[in-house]
Amino acid sequence: MLIAGNWKMFKGPGEAESFFDAFDAPAGVDVVFCPPYVSLAAAVATGRTIYAQNVHWEPTGAYTGEVSAEMLRELGVDGALVGHSERRQLFGETDENVARRARAALEAGLGVIACVGETLEQRESGDTELVLKIQVEALAFAAGEHERLVIAYEPVWAIGTGKTATPEQAQAAHAFIRGLLDRPVLYGGSVKPENAAELLSQPSVDGALVGGASLDPDSFAAICRAASTS
Ligand code: PEP
Repeated sequence: MLIAGNWKMFKGPGEAESFFDAFDAPAGVDVVFCPPYVSLAAAVATGRTIYAQNVHWEPTGAYTGEVSAEMLRELGVDGALVGHSERRQLFGETDENVARRARAALEAGLGVIACVGETLEQRESGDTELVLKIQVEALAFAAGEHERLVIAYEPVWAIGTGKTATPEQAQAAHAFIRGLLDRPVLYGGSVKPENAAELLSQPSVDGALVGGASLDPDSFAAICRAASTS
């Protein structure tokens, strides 16, 4: 089981250090933290597994505001998220550039958690599988079944909304994704200590990507404990 905490634009270096002082990880579960860029060095210094929240596809260049895989490696970062729905929806990321980011990071030796998922409108119009197929196939084309690639199924309607996919909805989407690309699939979307065990007990759910509930050391530790017993 892999549990990843996406801190989004929360926790500068000081708050990150306080979090790690208070966080008590259970054994038997792989835990990844995705702090903002400015807190990566402080997080790496704890010896924990640290991923950035994005990564560019070129090693260097005139790309204001971007960070390359080589730069992350120099800092001791282990991997990167790509294609988070907030990146896709608010910052114009496309299936193509998400796939390029994933491929560059994997080729540079980083791990990748690549996010896919449908909007509420797409689900309601019956297009969930079509959307997932397009997103996953772009990743599969760029990266194949790379051993350091993990997919995160994050239905957009369940992110930060308090609405969670039912275990059956998550299981169906995960099995569909697994049929397209044989890599582990994390579930993301309002995972909390109260619902983690049931979601993580689904046969095709290989872990979780957690946003809001990863900001508090006790609630994130509780989700990690649920994973360690699933
Ligand atoms: C996320 O941002 O990846 C996420 C799943 O957020 P939340 O857990 O807050 O819904």
